Amino acid sequence: MKTITAQKPLEEIMHYLDKCRSVYIIGCGTCATLCHTGGKAEAVEMKEKLENGGKKVAGWMVIPTACDELTRDALRENAADIAGADCILAMTCATGVQTIALHPKEVKPVYPALNTLFLGTEDSPGHFIEECMQCGSCVLGRTAAICPLVRCAKSLLNGPCGGSADGKCEISPDVPCAWQLIYDRLAEMGRLDEMEEIEPVKDWSTSVSGGPRGVDVDAECGIVTDKTEAEAKPA
Ligand code: SF4
Ligand code: SF4
Repeated sequence: MKTITAQKPLEEIMHYLDKCRSVYIIGCGTCATLCHTGGKAEAVEMKEKLENGGKKVAGWMVIPTACDELTRDALRENAADIAGADCILAMTCATGVQTIALHPKEVKPVYPALNTLFLGTEDSPGHFIEECMQCGSCVLGRTAAICPLVRCAKSLLNGPCGGSADGKCEISPDVPCAWQLIYDRLAEMGRLDEMEEIEPVKDWSTSVSGGPRGVDVDAECGIVTDKTEAEAKPA
């Protein structure tokens, strides 16, 4: 599973960098490299684009995994070059951007060069799909392990909308209808009667709609609390 990213338009990036004469570029050697959005080749290409746009590039690096704690060490090792920049341009997922922003020796703006799209699973070579939006109250138990929240264009929880044709979703002949997939798999298992069950209105409070999420994880016992961040850390 990878965090799928796409590069922002150069105009948007240049707008962020409007007040910066000098920029330090940071890529990520994991997901952004796999997506060809923030690896070594893309960092070098971005350097050229920024220089052509009149910016000075104080330096660049590709951190092995920008979202993990070793990012702090990489920033410290390159602190002298980073100090010479007015800002950092992060060619990483949004978690990488936030990790980088925590650790420079001297606080400075960190701007995202990428849009973070979703957690992707490779279903065929080079093609990634979203299989879970991490809603916090999983319904896969009654949908034959196919998520209707992310696989159905309308996130329908109680069967199809009626717009599918030849097993494809009405939004595109290239997109399978999630409920056709669910029907087919339930039929294969002889469990079509489960389609009759009504899924109640979804409680979205366990999703990001319920507020910032966070958990405490005990090294021996696993998750010991399952609370929103606000509940876990009262003011
Ligand atoms: S129902 Fe929620 S937790 Fe389960 S696969 Fe779908 S998005 Fe993920
Ligand atoms: S055609 Fe299928 S996947 Fe598309 S919106 Fe309707 S039920 Fe959902």
